Parts: sequence; structure tokens; C-alpha cells
Amino acid sequence: MVVVGSGAIGVEFAYVYSSIGVEVTIVEFLDRIVPNEDEEVSKTLEKIYKKKGIKVMTSAEVTNVDTKGDGCKVTVKTKDGEEKIDCDIVLSAVGVVSNVENCGLEDVGVLVDRGKIKVDELYKTNMPGYYAIGDVVPGPALAHVASAEGIICVENIAGQNPDPLDYNNIPGCTYCLPEISSVGFTEAKAKEAGYEIKVGKFPFSASGKASAAGAKDGFVKLIFDAKYGELLGAHMIGYNVTELIAEIVAIRKLETTGHEIIKTVHPHPTMSEAVMEAAAAAYGEVIHL
Ligand SMILES: Cc1cc2nc3c(=O)[nH]c(=O)nc-3n(C[C@H](O)[C@H](O)[C@H](O)COP(=O)(O)OP(=O)(O)OC[C@H]3O[C@@H](n4cnc5c(N)ncnc54)[C@H](O)[C@@H]3O)c2cc1C
Repeated sequence: MVVVGSGAIGVEFAYVYSSIGVEVTIVEFLDRIVPNEDEEVSKTLEKIYKKKGIKVMTSAEVTNVDTKGDGCKVTVKTKDGEEKIDCDIVLSAVGVVSNVENCGLEDVGVLVDRGKIKVDELYKTNMPGYYAIGDVVPGPALAHVASAEGIICVENIAGQNPDPLDYNNIPGCTYCLPEISSVGFTEAKAKEAGYEIKVGKFPFSASGKASAAGAKDGFVKLIFDAKYGELLGAHMIGYNVTELIAEIVAIRKLETTGHEIIKTVHPHPTMSEAVMEAAAAAYGEVIHL
């Protein structure tokens, strides 16, 4: 199977099929897989996938799929020239678009801009009585975002006074193995935004719970604003890390600082200790590394 695109959906399906014995090649246009994640997460996942036998082609573009005859012949343009891959199935995990056509939006005059319905921060469209939430409006196309938007939208219609959604504090989770989760700035984006940063990383190879679970791959990486101690971003790869990210979202929502995280006692042995340890690493106070 050739999987086109290595965003969350691409790497998830690559993992699923590979784990049931399918020979999988991922083709990614950009220079690393899961390109929206922190670079170190991409590198770690690529290494683990290659060890599992998943072939990873980056800086590579699928330019043609020939479906004549049996199976498919995929043409891939790489830095070193063109390559043809014979496979049974091509799984396209790129180009998800909102379904806003042919559902009568034009008839009622609801405005669509670059494929998304235009709404204000409480999801009102330009037409009175028409609201839109979820994948059809700008913002990350995620189930929990759609749900939060729906609640805010209806609370507003019901005359309550909801706060708009903070799109800077939306967690993203990828259900491959090991899992990936993240929220906020990557290290590169934080630097780009002009922050002076402190970065702390704690590998699961140093975690007792991860060792006991036989899941020592991966790490928790936290990025702090050096000036005020604000947690700008968190990036995790490892066993069950999609369960760890909610703590980070709450930390960011409550504007908790690095030192407050270090002084928050985490239970032992848990994977969650890695959050406290990563904060300690950022401030040169880590004990268990
Ligand atoms: C493969 C895949 C994996 C994903 N995994 C995750 C994940 O792990 N976590 C996560 O948070 N998000 C995930 N997502 C994204 C998530 O599914 C969407 O963000 C979420 O479903 C958006 O909700 P929604 O209500 O806007 O749209 P949808 O859930 O798509 O609901 C829209 C509904 O409207 C119906 N519809 C469309 N047009 C019409 C019409 N004209 N009349 C009547 N009904 C209509 C559709 O049939 C559909 O049932 C995934 C998406 C894909 C494709």
C-alpha cells in the first residue's frame, strides 16, 4: 500500500495496515512526516516507523497513479529523480475539504470564503438566523473543536454569554503507535514569534512506568517563555500520551508557570510524571535524568 500524505490520518492508517502485515510506503511532500508537529517528534516517529518496516519517503511528490490493469503504479518525484512503485492500494490522506457546495448556501446568501463558511467568533454567519460550526468553518478540523464550537454557538443563541473559543489552546492527538499529542507553539514557531524560550525534555526511557509497560520510546517536551514562565507549547510522543495532553491544556488555561508545574506533586509511577520532569528539565532542576 502507498499512503499519500503523512498528517495524522496518513500515519494512523500506515500504522494500522502495517501492523496487520501490509507492506506500507508513506509518501510525504514536505521534508518530514507529521510536518505540523515539533521536528523532534517527526524524527522520532520516522525512526520508529522505519524500525517497524514502514518505508518513509519525504520531500517526495506523487505525480501520477496509473490504475490500469491489476493494482496501481504510483509515480513519485523525488530529489533524485522519478520512482515508480507497484502496489495493490493507494490510500490518499491529503486534501480534506469542507463540504459546503450544493447544499443551498448560495440560495440563502450565506458567505463562503476560501472553502469555509464565514462566521464571527460566536459562529453567526452573515445571514440572520444562520449559524455554522465544525469542519465547515475556519479552524482545526477536529471533533473536539466542532463540539466546543457547537456548545458556544447554542449557548449564545440561548442568550447566555459564552467566551469565544481559545484557538491557541486546542490539543491535537494522533492515534498511531506510539501516540502523538501536542498543543501550542512548537520550538521553531515559538522562536519565530520572537519568544526567548526554555525547553525541557524528558524521555520515557527514564520513566519507571514506561519501563514497566514496555513502552520506553518517546518523550515529553515542554516549551516555556523564559521571561514569565508561561507554558507556550507541549509535544509528546509515546505510549498513551493522548491521555497526558489534557493536563497541559488545563495548565495553559490556568496560566500556570513552569515552577508551579515542578511543585505539583505527580503520582509515581505514572507516565504523567514525565510532564513534571520535563518542566524541571527546562529549569535545570530535573532529578531523574
Ligand atoms: C479519517 C479521519 C479521522 C479523524 N480522526 C479524528 C480524531 O481522531 N480526532 C478528532 O478530533 N477528529 C478526527 N477527525 C476529524 C473529525 O472527524 C471532524 O473534525 C469532525 O467530525 C467534524 O464534525 P462536523 O460536525 O463539523 O462534521 P461531520 O462529523 O463530518 O458531520 C457532518 C454531517 O453532515 C452530513 N451532511 C453533509 N452534507 C449534508 C447535507 N447537505 N444535508 C444533510 N446532511 C449533510 C454528513 O453526512 C455528516 O454526517 C478525523 C477525520 C477523518 C476523515
